[in-house]
Amino acid sequence: MSDALVDGTVVENRGALFEVQVQGRVVRCVLRGRLKHVKKGERRAAATPVAAGDRVRIALLEPGRGVIEEVLPRETGLSRTAAGSVPLRQTLVANVDQAVIVFAAAEPRPDLFMLDRLIVAAIAGELEPLIVINKVDLPLEKRERPSAGWRTGDPPQADSANRLLVDGELLRAQFAVYRQWFRVLFTSAARGEGVAELREALRGRRSVLCGPSGVGKSSLLNAVAPGLNLRVGEVGDVTHKGRHATSGVTLVALPFGGQVADTAGLRQFGFWEVPPEQVGAGFPDLETYLGGCQYSNCSHRREQGCAIREALRSGRVDARRVLSYLQLAGGST
Ligand code: GDP
Ligand code: ZN
Repeated sequence: MSDALVDGTVVENRGALFEVQVQGRVVRCVLRGRLKHVKKGERRAAATPVAAGDRVRIALLEPGRGVIEEVLPRETGLSRTAAGSVPLRQTLVANVDQAVIVFAAAEPRPDLFMLDRLIVAAIAGELEPLIVINKVDLPLEKRERPSAGWRTGDPPQADSANRLLVDGELLRAQFAVYRQWFRVLFTSAARGEGVAELREALRGRRSVLCGPSGVGKSSLLNAVAPGLNLRVGEVGDVTHKGRHATSGVTLVALPFGGQVADTAGLRQFGFWEVPPEQVGAGFPDLETYLGGCQYSNCSHRREQGCAIREALRSGRVDARRVLSYLQLAGGST
């Protein structure tokens, strides 16, 4: 065994095995036993002491094999609360620059409460959120009442030039509050719209894609980097439902620079001990009012002098966003 430790980046975490990239080569590593234990002072066990994206130091054994001896401090991390009798913090990907939060304009219909949750989780993990609304090629009626008849590859409707324009305006209005505070891209992996912008946003950065399954994450990745040949529908596939969440988190190098991690479905995506003041960071549209209530511990439900309720009455804030904020902040107060 060589004494010298070399630095690398974990590109894949598969249970007990880690693929570590060291100077362009991939070394398959196990974890030194002592690193599996909970460090003193940690309040709860970390389910994943090492995640994709972590910088590590490894001892090389035989060619292509090694042992992770040290995990360098994480700068950022996208976490979720793992299911189980004792909730565990599970870091899905470490040292990520941005969270690309993907929803579809329709099919599936966007769950804005989940969007808010993901924004809060991203900001709590110090990731810059980039919101992507995919499938903008779907006509408005699909968005209002999803029907079973639509198939991939259907051409846009014949009379649609004008209507798509109108639909586009409505879609932009639907996400107005997000567009005011965050970067929002409207894309169609099917027709190529917005794909160049997405490519630019990914270039040279480490990104994590998240969002419900079926919104087109794999399709978008294939559109920005066709050479990657990621299989559409692979991530979040029904057959993966019961799998342990850390399996299958892989960092993929983009041919134009940068890396993406696709994370399997994020079905139970939660966030770990985000204190109420951090929930507020995901709601910049409410933040100025949150500090303005008469009572500093205002629950924004029925107190006198509540700036949030006042802003609601005068139509300066969006009622759904307030509800969403109360749901997210309420759990921890
Ligand atoms: P993922 O689960 O988020 O990775 O979603 P997929 O990439 O597997 O896409 C789910 C389904 O939506 C597939 O049938 C895709 O062909 C379809 N799809 C993806 N992007 C678009 C799009 O921009 N427009 C339309 N109409 N369908 C899309
Ligand atoms: Zn209040």
